[in-house]
Amino acid sequence: MIIIELKDLNGYYDRGKPNEWWALRNVNLQIEAGSYAAFFGASGSGKTTMLYTISGMEKPESGQVLVTGKDITNFSQKELAIYRQMTVGIVFQQFNLIPSISVLDNIALPMSFLGIPLEKRQKKAMDLLVRFGIDNLATRLPFELSGGQQQRVGIARALANDPPIVIADEPLGNLDSENANKVLDFLRDLQEKDGRTIIMVTHESWSLKDAKLIFYIKDGQIVKTEKRQGRDTPFIPPVSPNAAKQITESFKNIFENITKANKVRHEHKEDSKHKILAVIQERHRITNNEVEGLLGVSDATATRYLEELCKEEKLTREGVHGKGVFYTVKPFVRQAVAVK
Ligand code: ADP
Ligand code: MG
Repeated sequence: MIIIELKDLNGYYDRGKPNEWWALRNVNLQIEAGSYAAFFGASGSGKTTMLYTISGMEKPESGQVLVTGKDITNFSQKELAIYRQMTVGIVFQQFNLIPSISVLDNIALPMSFLGIPLEKRQKKAMDLLVRFGIDNLATRLPFELSGGQQQRVGIARALANDPPIVIADEPLGNLDSENANKVLDFLRDLQEKDGRTIIMVTHESWSLKDAKLIFYIKDGQIVKTEKRQGRDTPFIPPVSPNAAKQITESFKNIFENITKANKVRHEHKEDSKHKILAVIQERHRITNNEVEGLLGVSDATATRYLEELCKEEKLTREGVHGKGVFYTVKPFVRQAVAVK
């Protein structure tokens, strides 16, 4: 089963400006679910751009990025955000850990975006620390760790939401050879033991040792594709039914999560509007600035709530007087709203 397919992909930086750069040129490729693929090329050849396009962080100028057949270039911003949180885990060369929070909190953070309860987040983060042999460092801050330890945290964080695809952008770049080899072992385990799809970017040929599919990239183009056998094991077509199931699930969750998030936001808004009505009961009138302070929201949000209440015929907009826009409550609403 094909998990990732790029079709006629073209990407530019600074399109239309004198320094326009054609970073991805007519890229076509397919990656099987559960395989270990690598992009290999010199610095500036477009490897990072390729990864960012696959992970939905860069939008191509033209072409398709199909993930299990779904074109993510058509996703809304919201869908992309959840796709990035659930479907792809990214390991960075520079680790990109948040310096002011503990190792455990760094790993637990991506789970909070999906609304996973604190206790569950911390347990999962701890399990990941155990897996990568750094549970003794849970309460430390990132700067107290060596490069090798920080990269293990980076890998653990990428796995927080259990993504079927793991993308690693030059994950060995800042490591000595012993730690670099450890990281490669971890990546291989993520493929062989977990059945995840690995996509690694590197410019050092020795680090391709576990890759089964290598795309050579030059000036944004795939100039050669190489298939390799596994090191000790015979080459088994890396079709993993587990990975396929996982990604179908994660897509289902993307849409469920958006619906859930919208529902929570809607409930929150209705709650806020009720609060405005409750307060205005006592005082008869209220300004947009007062609502800002009352709810701790921006001016735009306060005005939006107030205008919605006008549309619902609960308030009347009186106009601007000195310090703000005044709204008054309609008499029949005044009696109807109880203080919550
Ligand atoms: P690699 O990861 O292989 O080193 P990149 O994908 O980072 O390559 O960059 C490919 C090309 O695109 C380079 O020529 C680089 O200068 C250019 N590029 C990358 N990012 C940007 C950007 N944000 N704005 C303009 N040009 C960029
Ligand atoms: Mg790069």
